[in-house]
Amino acid sequence: MDNKKKTGTVRVWRRIIQVISFLALPGLFTSIFYAMKDIYSAILTGTFSLSAMFPQLILFTGSMIITILTGRFFCGFLCSFGAMGDFLWFLTKKTGKKGLKVNEKADAWLKNLKYVILAFIILGIWTFHLGNIEKMIGPWAVFGMYSKIGSWPSLKYLLTIGGFLLLLIIIGSFLIERFFCRYLCPLGAVFAVVSRFRLFRIKKERSKCGSCRLCTNKCSMGIPLYQYDTVTSGECIDCFECTAACPRHNVRANGAPVVVSTVSAAAMFGLVYAGNIQAQMVSSQDQMVSSQALVESSQAPVESSQAPAESSQASVANSQAPVANSKAPVVSSQAPAVSSQAPVESSPVPVESSQAPVVSNQTPATVEAQSNTGKYVDGTYTGTGQGFRGETKTSVTVKNGNITDITVLSYEDDKSYFKRAVGKVTSEIVNSQSAEVDAVSGATFSSNGIMESVANALNVSNAR
Ligand code: SF4
Ligand code: SF4
Ligand code: SF4
Repeated sequence: MDNKKKTGTVRVWRRIIQVISFLALPGLFTSIFYAMKDIYSAILTGTFSLSAMFPQLILFTGSMIITILTGRFFCGFLCSFGAMGDFLWFLTKKTGKKGLKVNEKADAWLKNLKYVILAFIILGIWTFHLGNIEKMIGPWAVFGMYSKIGSWPSLKYLLTIGGFLLLLIIIGSFLIERFFCRYLCPLGAVFAVVSRFRLFRIKKERSKCGSCRLCTNKCSMGIPLYQYDTVTSGECIDCFECTAACPRHNVRANGAPVVVSTVSAAAMFGLVYAGNIQAQMVSSQDQMVSSQALVESSQAPVESSQAPAESSQASVANSQAPVANSKAPVVSSQAPAVSSQAPVESSPVPVESSQAPVVSNQTPATVEAQSNTGKYVDGTYTGTGQGFRGETKTSVTVKNGNITDITVLSYEDDKSYFKRAVGKVTSEIVNSQSAEVDAVSGATFSSNGIMESVANALNVSNAR
């Protein structure tokens, strides 16, 4: 195959993989970034567990290994946010516009912004939890809420700061090719550092170039290729626009791009699949343990009487019911002695402070007193909350003033993420008798959706 055909094949192949990724794994970039966050947070808080963190580990370390071997194929071929940038730039070109020309020095300076953003996220948000920023949704996460054609982020999230920033990024992407990737993407910053050590590189011989700068002008990331014989910049996203641009076929990769990109894409899809399988295994184990706890418990009259009503709900609800129920005896078992206790200790726990494990931190007498008071009015209520990709609906049962059962009636999030969150969050809510508990690492939005829907059902405020 001659060089012209080869470069043509690579470009077509790239577009095909971009479209497949956009349709099949649109949230992959957020998954990798949050996997990094989960690993970092777990190490920081001393809660790191190889088995619990396996899906995140496999995704994050796997993608970094692929980057060291093949460079930023993820950015060039697989990232849907990057693909969106390419598409918007394509529209700019199609309408005959030239976009904004950023001079080389300004471009180099602006590219450092993404490292500043990355440092701020790691230090300011993940480490020191500055202000309320963690509750804000980034532009990236708003875009990541789209999971398939038709499932776009809800208006609620489009009207956040993240939604506004997403709009600015879209405008920027019309003006500058790969605007977000060049200047702002924190995950791109990680890839840029790691890919400096990559084995797969773009090469060209400057001695054959003369005064031509076509490849530099066509580079998606604005790399000054005229300076290099071998592209060592971490900015290179393996888009192969430079190989296609060179009239002398002087730009080459030190490997077959089609083969390398196919292997990289297959490896990436494999990592996601393996991570999901593992997540489901962990989730199943959690449910088995919870079910066992339920069987072993002889103190579940209140919960079991409620089960039939809830068990007719959606299958997901059924699968999680044992988790919630298994926790309920902690509350219901206190009930008989409750009435003998003074209600002094049991003043309604504010949403914020109840995040602490109320039950485990108190003496039995205190817990009994709390049950006696009963924070909520008996009944079964339904509520809705906003998960990652849409609405989460729950049914909450209150008996003797306490939450005794939570059943998920419907949700729109990815199953693997939702299952990761549901057992722990519902258990914690029943345990703490509060709609605000800690979110599950790696499933923050799903956790928040459940908490918000429970709070909504109970008609209490939820600060998340
Ligand atoms: S730089 Fe960020 S947004 Fe751009 S392709 Fe890479 S991961 Fe995606
Ligand atoms: S150097 Fe070539 S492959 Fe790398 S980003 Fe620029 S145009 Fe794409
Ligand atoms: S387009 Fe080809 S000939 Fe022109 S500078 Fe680049 S490598 Fe050299």
